[in-house]
Amino acid sequence: MALLQITEPGKTAAPHYHNLAAGIDLGTTNSLVATVRSGLAETLPDIKGHHLLPSIVHYVKNETPQIGTAAKQYAHTDPLNTIASVKRLMGRGLKDIKTIGTRLPYDFVEKEGQGMPMIRTVAGELSPVQISAEILKNLKQRAEDSLGGALTGVVITVPAYFDDAQRQATKDAAILAGLKVLRLLNEPTAAAVAYGLDQGAEGIHVIYDLGGGTFDISILRLQRGVFEVLATAGNSALGGDDFDRVIAQWMMQEANIANDAQQSHIRELMDIARTAKETLSTQDTASLNIQLADGLQWHGTLNREQLNTLIDPLIQKTMMPCRRTLRDAGLTLDDINEVVMVGGSTRMPRVREKVGDFFKRTPHVNIDPDKVVAIGAAIQADILAGNKPDGEMLLLDVIPLSLGIETMGGLVEKIIPRNTTIPVARAQDFTTFKDGQIAMTIHIMQGERELVLDCRSLTRFELRGIPPMVAGAARIRVTYQVDADGLLSVSAKEEISGIHSDIIVKPSYGLQDNDIEQMLKDSLKYAKEDVITRNLREQQVEADRVINALRAAITTDGHHLLKHQEFVTINIKLDELLRIKESKDAKSIKKAIEQLDEVTQDFAARRMDYSIRQAMQGRSVDEFSEN
Ligand code: AMP
Repeated sequence: MALLQITEPGKTAAPHYHNLAAGIDLGTTNSLVATVRSGLAETLPDIKGHHLLPSIVHYVKNETPQIGTAAKQYAHTDPLNTIASVKRLMGRGLKDIKTIGTRLPYDFVEKEGQGMPMIRTVAGELSPVQISAEILKNLKQRAEDSLGGALTGVVITVPAYFDDAQRQATKDAAILAGLKVLRLLNEPTAAAVAYGLDQGAEGIHVIYDLGGGTFDISILRLQRGVFEVLATAGNSALGGDDFDRVIAQWMMQEANIANDAQQSHIRELMDIARTAKETLSTQDTASLNIQLADGLQWHGTLNREQLNTLIDPLIQKTMMPCRRTLRDAGLTLDDINEVVMVGGSTRMPRVREKVGDFFKRTPHVNIDPDKVVAIGAAIQADILAGNKPDGEMLLLDVIPLSLGIETMGGLVEKIIPRNTTIPVARAQDFTTFKDGQIAMTIHIMQGERELVLDCRSLTRFELRGIPPMVAGAARIRVTYQVDADGLLSVSAKEEISGIHSDIIVKPSYGLQDNDIEQMLKDSLKYAKEDVITRNLREQQVEADRVINALRAAITTDGHHLLKHQEFVTINIKLDELLRIKESKDAKSIKKAIEQLDEVTQDFAARRMDYSIRQAMQGRSVDEFSEN
């Protein structure tokens, strides 16, 4: 009889079986999906051959929404139901949206207790997460149609400056779209991966991302297989559209189009400008043909030199954030190893030239700058889905700010320090402060400072049902776990009784990259003061603990174990500690605690003897010696 065959655990019997995985660049203007096929990463087109999917959803009553190019045509005729740029709303409260100045023409509805505002459409009130999910569903379908099977999982890219709330919202959208998120990946990191920088030497890399409407600059450090985002900056209102505008204005001057005619023709003129600009990326001259509805005609040409003169001031504007990020990261130009170009506008030879001059490096431009992020995500997805031979390096990230817990005295105890590689899990034991304490609040903090007041509160939850014990006897193990996407879950368990409670942190909205930066700067600035305050608070907490314990002891045993004179002396020292406790001097508090300890030593010894005698009553000495 032939033996039955069993495959090795975790290995499939089919020799060429490939887990279908994809990388998704979920962009503000356009989105893309890419995958690795036969070892090559490529973006996937729709049936019409288009790779870019405009990130626009058009809602229609009682019908499935239209996505992408099909939706775009309704932007002007049905603006309230045609939602674009939803990425700007992800994980944001209405207040954030107002302050970031996105003048989006939607009908926002703010719901009580809900972070993100909803948008009222003919299809009902929808959250940014639901709208993003429609874009993701479309890309999922595209990938599954072209790969001929269900996706195992995806890697979705997010801007490096996205906070926890924005990341969580992106993940929620993916879940809603029926996607398994292998992980979220920072966009600049994905671009670096596309160029294989993660496989190269350790070093500092710059990702210069100039799109249609935004500019982002990120400085990454690759060290021991970990990409750390050292600094980011940018300008959310600078991009290719501004180039088009200056060209359009120049044309109007040349064609003698009066200023008041500008407004009505600006769109048409900007379209002509954009075509000319794109032509000039590969050719020396572009012809301009203006034929406006009111009969105005003009024909001219634009050459590269003229274009450069027009756009140089705008390119120059991107250099300011570049300088700032270098300064923030504490680096000089000589520290930079590689420069990677991302975004459609980096196709312009002048942009490449100026960036090369600034960083004194020839930038990487070989991969299509619109696709490079999706390609990096696909490479990462392929590894995470288990399609690579063992040993292939997995890209890791680090947490930007320490995660801690509030302890007595309004202090923060750090559980996972900043820059720890994720995923990570760390546990620490805590105990009760008071006799008979049956509940404990776990207050989760983020930040580098020592006091709760100076850190960011993420959330809090309660562990209830702790069996009543003397203070300090319970053992509560608190575990912080950060998954590969930087999302935190916290559990608390009382080890003796086994009762436990946990929470997934969905932080309050609105922590910006510059907030993180500010928090880090403050932690350095106030480091000395913080140590002093921490010391003081710790002594005050210790004083409270000693006072509480002593009062409880006097109540139960004072009447029969304390002589009158002792009682008086202890009370004098107790009053002194109570008074000194309110001072700002940790040393004096410590001294007062020691003095109180001294005058209570005999009382403590007598209590100990007494409780042993009580315990032994009715039991023979032999019984004890056996133990
Ligand atoms: P993105 O937001 O990354 O899709 O970039 C869109 C911007 O890239 C628009 O302003 C486009 O005009 C610009 N763009 C795309 N292709 C080219 C090109 N060949 N030359 C110059 N700019 C381009």
